[in-house]
Amino acid sequence: MSVQVFGMAVSRGVAIGRAVLVASSRVDVAHYFVPADRVDHEIGRLRHARDAVAAELSALKRDLPADVPHELAALLDVHLMMLHDESLSEATKTWMRERRYNAEWALSAQLEVLARQFDDMEDAYLRERKADLEQVVERVLRQLTLDPGAAPSPALPEPTGSEPLVLVANDVAPADMMQFKRSVFTGFVTDVGGRTSHTAIVARSLDIPAVVGAREASRMIRQDDLLVIDGDAGVVIVNPSPIVLEEYRFRQQQSELERARLNRLRHTPAVTLDGQAVELLANIESPGDAQAAVAAGAVGVGLFRSEFLFMNRGGNLPGEEEQFEAYREAVLAMQGLPVTIRTVDIGADKPIDRLSSQEQRHENGLNPALGLRAIRWSLSEPAMFRQQLRAILRASAFGKVRILIPMVAHIGEMRAIFEALGRARQQLDDAGRSYGPVEVGAMIEVPAAAIAIDRFLDYFDFVSLGTNDLIQYTLAIDRADDAVAHLYDPWHPAVLHLLHHTISRALAHGRGVSVCGEMAGDPQFTELLLAMGLRSLSMHPARISSIKQKLLRADTRQLQGMLPRVLGADMPCEAMKLALAEAARTVS
Ligand code: PEP
Ligand code: MG
Repeated sequence: MSVQVFGMAVSRGVAIGRAVLVASSRVDVAHYFVPADRVDHEIGRLRHARDAVAAELSALKRDLPADVPHELAALLDVHLMMLHDESLSEATKTWMRERRYNAEWALSAQLEVLARQFDDMEDAYLRERKADLEQVVERVLRQLTLDPGAAPSPALPEPTGSEPLVLVANDVAPADMMQFKRSVFTGFVTDVGGRTSHTAIVARSLDIPAVVGAREASRMIRQDDLLVIDGDAGVVIVNPSPIVLEEYRFRQQQSELERARLNRLRHTPAVTLDGQAVELLANIESPGDAQAAVAAGAVGVGLFRSEFLFMNRGGNLPGEEEQFEAYREAVLAMQGLPVTIRTVDIGADKPIDRLSSQEQRHENGLNPALGLRAIRWSLSEPAMFRQQLRAILRASAFGKVRILIPMVAHIGEMRAIFEALGRARQQLDDAGRSYGPVEVGAMIEVPAAAIAIDRFLDYFDFVSLGTNDLIQYTLAIDRADDAVAHLYDPWHPAVLHLLHHTISRALAHGRGVSVCGEMAGDPQFTELLLAMGLRSLSMHPARISSIKQKLLRADTRQLQGMLPRVLGADMPCEAMKLALAEAARTVS
């Protein structure tokens, strides 16, 4: 029977594929297809890993001190039994033979199937054995990662004829989302998350249809169910009827045609009807994304989220040399176009290690969004901060580089930032390293900075509005929490007031001003931002064409005239729509 699961639309388009259920803690398991002639080798890898774990468990049991309770030995026996149970080993091989999943993927897929069977058990004692099974599988997965025989995932293509796959998980940490850049999934669904959570942002940058905050999804959807993800409506249809499926296949074709049509705009200059040039920049997460930015027609990078270089590394932070290489790669790939590198924005829903936001909250107990995040963290680690500044400065010898500081809120922070920059330059001078001139900008994403913007403009060359956080902090709505997602309102009069105030003051001071939050890549805000006088927007490369289409049809003089009415309205969104409709009627 067909079922619908409702969530939030975060990344447009339609994906149709088979569900792959993955537990949050195992999302970072490698997922790739194995060519037919390597399946036996892959089964051999699994066998080796299983034997190694069996030896490990037997040794543990043998070496147990005499005084430990005998339950512990019994538990190790249960683990050994589970390890050799056919429902785990044989079924895992079937995933490998029939689906050609790699060993890690096959094992975690089978774990999901068995975990559900445990969940459905009446007997509480048996139900609790799920944790034992998970521990056993974790051991085998860990063993597999030590195995040098694993094939590199990107080299292995999807076998022809197989159906596309869609990932279903309770939550996905932003660091794990980055793995999807190389993965086989064509869409994803999570139980939790908000529209501007970092997980959703990375999904948007991958340009794959996604729905988050679909609360019941990972409970209702079963391994291998056929799913339609409607990334525009935020709906997941589980096992659709043939008619519904047909309808969505048609919509999928239509949206691909629309994409191809929009792509033709990529070299068209971004100029409004009344001749106002608008700078369309790209948001990137890794140097590898720079190519997509150039291909999409971006005239520079407006936001390089450098923190993604710090993730997925087991807590070992990248050194100066490694960072320098990454920044230089992005600068060279942009071929002379400016690259705005934001210093590391670690914290809140972007922990360095791979805990999901939920897990992190659980661990910390406190509210990480209000904690040691972004520039606060950098200033608490001065050596690390200077190291990053040196790496960025050195990259500026290879092209136009700008430094962007996240989450500034205090005057004292600004002094510390410029002091650190001065010392970083001095250290490079002493070491005889070259660097070029760099402009320094601030993210305006804390209401305090927006309200006191004049103070900040004295120090910084440019500002960039981080609307994702500005909305979160203005409205006291955690951007990653689906329970309050309905209150996350970019059209709130207070938010519009802060945006307008910041843009007007920056323009009055002759400073560059841009928006790099998700509002920049959402066409429903293009006219509003143009009306406020904004002429620079930074977004995921995949969004550039749609925004360009919108501004090619806009007249900023007319839009400016609408602004007082919109800013003064109780319902600014409705007022804007009305004003646009009236303007359209006058033209026709
Ligand atoms: C923002 O807050 O709008 C922003 C661009 O930064 P991030 O989403 O990385 O917090
Ligand atoms: Mg931010």
